[in-house]
Amino acid sequence: MDSYIKQDGYKFSFDSSECSACQGFCCRGESGYIWINYQEIVKVANHLSLSRDEFSNKYIKKVKHRYSLIEKQLGYKDYACIFFDEKLNRCGIYEVRPNQCKTFPFWEQFKGNEMEARKECPAVK
Ligand code: SF4
Repeated sequence: MDSYIKQDGYKFSFDSSECSACQGFCCRGESGYIWINYQEIVKVANHLSLSRDEFSNKYIKKVKHRYSLIEKQLGYKDYACIFFDEKLNRCGIYEVRPNQCKTFPFWEQFKGNEMEARKECPAVK
């Protein structure tokens, strides 16, 4: 199967075959937000066999009117999403990860900024 993914409006493509060799650049690094909406919260909570409240209390923080997954600090200026498995270098909830993660690196902010996308992700070609 072709691992190159292209999307209209973007000059770069994404080679998903490189994900296995990456250290999880899209899930760790500087502190940031991993936005998650209500439907996604329900989906991940179900996946983890937690109630919505249990999941939210443990893994979510409110940022103004939105919600983000919390992070864990791995080192100096090195943060990771709470669901990043640093031993296996991969997402621990991959099947139910939020849309923000599914659509990476085809984000609006990278549309006219290929250099920035390349800095964030070695699979950007
Ligand atoms: S949910 Fe998964 S893919 Fe998204 S940032 Fe967290 S570890 Fe990475």
